[in-house]
Formats: sequence, structure tokens, C-alpha cells
Amino acid sequence: MLSRAKLCFTSADYGQEHTAYDCILPLRCLMLKESRPKDYENFRKLETHTNELRGSDLWYQNQRNVVYFLRYSCRMEQRFTEEEIDEACGAVIINAFDCFPFAIPIAGIFPAAASLMAHKCIANVDNRIYNKFWMITRASLPIKQGEIIFVCSTDPNLGTRERQRILRDWKFSGCNCVRCCDPTECQTYRSALKCQKCYEGYVLPMKPLDHYSDWKCNHCSHRLTSVDVDKIIDKLQKEYDAIGDQDVELFERFLKSHTSLLHPNHYFYNNARRSLNKIYCFHPQYQLKKLSPALLERKIDICKKLLSVEDILEPGLTRTRGLTLNELYGPILLLNRYRYFNGDHSLEEAKKWLLQAYNIIKESLSILSLHPADTFEGMMTTILKRTLQDAQEYILD
Ligand SMILES: [Zn+2]
Ligand SMILES: [Zn+2]
Repeated sequence: MLSRAKLCFTSADYGQEHTAYDCILPLRCLMLKESRPKDYENFRKLETHTNELRGSDLWYQNQRNVVYFLRYSCRMEQRFTEEEIDEACGAVIINAFDCFPFAIPIAGIFPAAASLMAHKCIANVDNRIYNKFWMITRASLPIKQGEIIFVCSTDPNLGTRERQRILRDWKFSGCNCVRCCDPTECQTYRSALKCQKCYEGYVLPMKPLDHYSDWKCNHCSHRLTSVDVDKIIDKLQKEYDAIGDQDVELFERFLKSHTSLLHPNHYFYNNARRSLNKIYCFHPQYQLKKLSPALLERKIDICKKLLSVEDILEPGLTRTRGLTLNELYGPILLLNRYRYFNGDHSLEEAKKWLLQAYNIIKESLSILSLHPADTFEGMMTTILKRTLQDAQEYILD
């Protein structure tokens, strides 16, 4: 396309994001018109929200980087009309799924999946895109015949305000699911701020679906405006973003220093716990077998806190739960062994802990074994099967 238009594209680093790449996915979709007309027909059935997009920053960006670039710089005005390109851009924005298994973020369009699944913040399916660009959608909760399949098309980890903002800015829709309508987010208090007046209650949005709504303490009725909340969150976000991926001390300090400001389940806390959970296993200095009993206890506590929220917000056979369970059994086994040989656990106590770990391995295995063998989850399955057998023999012994 570039050579035909006698254009030359150069970049100092072809792996970095570049505005010239903006046109590639819309162009691939548009070219189906000539190469696979039937697929193009299906693509054109996707929601585009072009009217809502018009006039937004994203729309101007696409006008410049896609519409103008393809039609005039690449001399394609005879092949694609402005409306067709506009629609393709809209369809990509609204329907693209992030494909995670790759080092560089890639967006994929899955017309069958996108048109079948509605959004809800607590989904009943677990969606995963694998190496060969396959999307596998699995029921994570029981779904009866005729019931709607819901996928969560935003980050379930975030609070309602942030999820609504993503849905509004990127999907031109909102959500009024049970989680979004409930100020406590199904009793998880995912966005709750500790009241700075009574220090007893939590400050929650009065109208969770309205970004500009006031927030009110559930104990003393102390109020905050949405601007006050923005200021608090922006400040915390900056502090959180400044923490390096592997910085144990800063993550631990972050968790300790905001207990008087955030609910223990706040999403900032949850994210910090997830990072720590990874570090306390994969970091060379904090490999599981090198962890002190105190750090093993810490990891168990982190996993249990994560699971208590995941059980509500990402329930059932979800990858997130499977992976957290996969992180939990190791420290339980190691701490149990340490305490037993140290005389801190009686034989009965040791058996109880072993059985607890055994059940966790079994549950994690039942979730992760649903994933293909050549994925990270699949590889974990092989380890889990072996550990389950060892644990079984050990219990019998
Ligand atoms: Zn929702
Ligand atoms: Zn209060």
C-alpha cells in the first residue's frame, strides 16, 4: 500500500507505538470488503457509535491518522468512502478486545463474540485470547438456557467511577448492573474512602452512576464533593504510579500509610496486593522457598484478602481466582512444614493445614486445567497435578 502510494515510513524503533499504526486495524477490516465480502458484511453489522464519536478527541485523531491518511496520502479515495472508514474506526474502538498474550498490546476484532456478548461488571463468562488469536469464552458461572451471556469489557479491578469512565469514553455506554448501582459495590467497598471526620464510617457515592454526585459518610453523613474525591484519587494515583514494579518496600509502605484514608478492600490496595503477591514468588530475592515464616504468613494473608473480593467480583471458574488459589497453597505447605518441625504445629494441626492446601490445589487445578496446555495456565496445571499427587501421598503417609 505504501509503495504503491510512493510513501516511505521510517521509525527509530518499530516496536514503539506510532500514529502511523493507527490505520492498520481499520484498514485490515476495510480490505475484507474486497478479499472476504461475507466477513466484511459481518464486520459492518458491529456497533460503531459514529454519531457519539464525532467531535471527540479520538474522532479528530482518527480523521487525521486514518481517514485523511488512507484516502489522500495513500490515494485510496476511490476504494473507500469517508463514511466507510469512519465506520471502521468506530467499530474498532467499540468492539476491539485486548489480546494479552503478546509482548506488544494488540487489539483484535471478534465479530461473533462481540455481537453475542453484553457487558456486566460481574460477568458470567471468562474470556481469554490465546496465542493463535483464538478467543475462548467459557462459562464461569452456571448459565441456564436463554440467559444472557455477560462479559466484563472493562477492568473489574477498578472502582465504579473508573469503570464507568472507561465505558463512557471508549464504549459510549454505561452500566447499571448490581455492582454499579450499589455504593458499596456488593459489600466489597472497592471505592470506599475512610471518613476524615468521624474516623468510623466510610464515604461512599450517593449516586454511584453519576460521576458528579456527592459522596457521603455511612456513619456521620459527612460529605465530599466529586471534586474532593477526584483530588484524593489523583494524588493517590500519582503516588501509586511512582512505585516501581518490583519495589517491595514501597508497596508495603503504600499499604501501611493509607489505612486511615482507604477501605482495606480499596482497588489501590488490591492492586498493590496483586503486585506483592507476584513479587513474593517470582522475584529472585523473594522466591517462595527463600521466604521467612513471617513473609510466608504475609503471602497467605495477601492471597486470602484477594480471594475474599474475587469471590464476589470475579466469581466462579475465573482465571483470576484460579491463579490466586495457585499462589496460596505453596506458602501454606511451607509454613506448615516449618511450624510442624519447629514444634509449633501438632500432628493434628499439621494434617488440617495439609488438607486445606490439598483442597486449594484441587480447586485451582479444576480452573486452570480448562486452559490450553501451551499457555501459562496450562503449564501451571502440570505442576499442580504433580503437587496434588505428592500432597495426597503425604496425607496418607
Ligand atoms: Zn456495572
Ligand atoms: Zn463520618
